[in-house]
Amino acid sequence: MSAQIIDGKSIAQAMQAKMSQQIGGWQQTYGRAPGLAVLMVGDNPASAAYVANKERACSRVGIQSFGEHYPADVSETEVSAAIARLNQDPLIDGILVQLPLPITLNAASLINQIDPLKDADGLHPQNMGKLLRGEPGLRSCTPAGVIALLSEINYDISGKTAVVVGRSILVGKPIALMLLEQDATIAIAHSRTPDLASLCQTADILIAAVGKPNLITAAMIKPGAVVIDVGINRINDKLVGDVDFESVKEVAGWITPVPGGVGPMTVTMLLQNTILSYCQKYIK
Ligand code: NAD
Repeated sequence: MSAQIIDGKSIAQAMQAKMSQQIGGWQQTYGRAPGLAVLMVGDNPASAAYVANKERACSRVGIQSFGEHYPADVSETEVSAAIARLNQDPLIDGILVQLPLPITLNAASLINQIDPLKDADGLHPQNMGKLLRGEPGLRSCTPAGVIALLSEINYDISGKTAVVVGRSILVGKPIALMLLEQDATIAIAHSRTPDLASLCQTADILIAAVGKPNLITAAMIKPGAVVIDVGINRINDKLVGDVDFESVKEVAGWITPVPGGVGPMTVTMLLQNTILSYCQKYIK
């Protein structure tokens, strides 16, 4: 039997429609909409497309976006000063620094300078530490989007075996911690994992976050498993994930497509984090 497709695009649209309604009401009550500042450095076309996509999503739901675009040769002092200013700005609830930054800038140091309460990407070490400790805090967007998708299909994570393929600080590690937070038994696979196929076959929940097309094949899937494909790979102008979608969907119980799976949820979680920061100021 063919897997149920998890339609991230529709789920994201429905969540954004709800946000838009809420924001309309808050605007009336509190006199302003939530604000998100997006700092971009240089002219990387992929980053420019991501930033434009985030700004469009903000305007769809009624979040005010404040774009700050700097040339590739901007000094770290200047970006630091911008972050310090935005940290103090009462109209700004969320701040994000679009990655990757030019190698002349220290991305980790700049992210550390964002007020953790305005850390819309959930990448500040304080928020990462809260995740590790199981405390509430702003969660990073792609991992939070994965968890939101599982919640939307009413999948009970507790007690399930989850395998996360990929151990990056942006995606793999926080996803694994969020699954652990919901009582899954987790394994994290990476480039040195010797027998990836055998490990994946144990997974009730399989998350692929690598960046290698067709890495995950049907033979690696436990029948009925939920397969979430975070990977984004461009092949001849076509976007594909890490999962061989056509064959895997014949074995899995649920599967996300690429595009239209995790991607739309990532930006939705960015909006959600901005809203959470706004609500902390007004709604106790
Ligand atoms: P990364 O390059 O930082 O990490 C890749 C991880 O894959 C590493 O931990 C590495 O150990 C592991 N890996 C590499 N080869 C492997 C192999 N053969 N077997 C098992 N593990 C292997 O990448 P990232 O930033 O974590 O992103 C991963 C993918 O997710 C990329 O395709 C990226 O474009 C995509 N991504 C998607 C979204 C989204 O919104 N959908 C957001 C962020 C990243």
